[in-house]
Amino acid sequence: MSKSALKILLIDDDRMQFRLTQAQFRKIRAEAYELEWAETYEEGLEKLLSGAYAACLLDYRLGDRDGLELIQQAVGQGCRTPIVFLTAETAKRVDFAAMNAGALDYLVKGEITPRTLERSLRYALKLGETLEALRRLATRDQLTGLLNRREFDRILAEESERAARFGRPLALVLVDIDHFKRVNDTHGHPAGDEVLREVGRRLGALMRSVDRVTRFGGEEFALVVMEMDRAMALETARRICAEMRRSPFRAGDIELPVTVSAGVAVMPGDATDGKSLVAAADKALYAAKAAGRDRALAFGDL
Ligand code: GH3
Ligand code: MG
Ligand code: MG
Repeated sequence: MSKSALKILLIDDDRMQFRLTQAQFRKIRAEAYELEWAETYEEGLEKLLSGAYAACLLDYRLGDRDGLELIQQAVGQGCRTPIVFLTAETAKRVDFAAMNAGALDYLVKGEITPRTLERSLRYALKLGETLEALRRLATRDQLTGLLNRREFDRILAEESERAARFGRPLALVLVDIDHFKRVNDTHGHPAGDEVLREVGRRLGALMRSVDRVTRFGGEEFALVVMEMDRAMALETARRICAEMRRSPFRAGDIELPVTVSAGVAVMPGDATDGKSLVAAADKALYAAKAAGRDRALAFGDL
């Protein structure tokens, strides 16, 4: 197999279908694709979630399990792999159900030719790429690559509701660069942009992957941290301040020291909903600025 071969995952409980698909791939361009096979629902889901495949061909009936259910479960767990549905049925109902579950195309077993298979895969791959680019545009901040304000609003709404309903701890850390205007004024806007990117990188490196690091606004960042009480969140915020202070930032060939201030608020305790959580963290941030900057304060300690 060539190095650039695209790994395609076939999830099908029928060995015959694997052999058939393998033979069809050989007739397309054997070097372009590398077909792997998963025989069961569990094995298929695990492989799909590994993110190692460029696309997936998924059987509608997996023993007594359902391919539709597998798509929904995979997508629910963040799977972005383009999926083409394979089914023995020509029923419109199955076609629509597959599409609604998130499949990008639908092929009827027995009617598949090397040509239609290759074409379907190529379209699914292209559409998958386009969707991913759109998703990125919609959810990420262009300068730092962090989640954008819109995503912050969505995540906060979701998590604060969960926190309120189930009494799970939720912390919000607002981080604001100290005297950032001076960086722009002294070194120019591009240097300021570079500082913003580096703050984003250091924040990302510091946090657990489950934590959501977002660009809240201009030179403000917001971290939504699940399952953390006030003491732990304050400790995290202090580590963030220390991490920025630790070494000077580089912008081109200039080195500049950067510090940040942080405000912490938690649910339950400081707020009953997302909006009041932001207001509380903002008050704590303001207090950190007033107390001399380069520090973190918790709303509950004000
Ligand atoms: P403080 O310590 O009180 O937070 O002071 P500050 O100077 O950091 O805060 P202020 O709100 O006065 O200034 C924020 C500056 O951030 C003003 C704005 O031009 C700049 N800014 C906002 N977004 C961007 C951006 O994307 N790139 C650059 N280079 N600057 C930005
Ligand atoms: Mg600032
Ligand atoms: Mg600010």
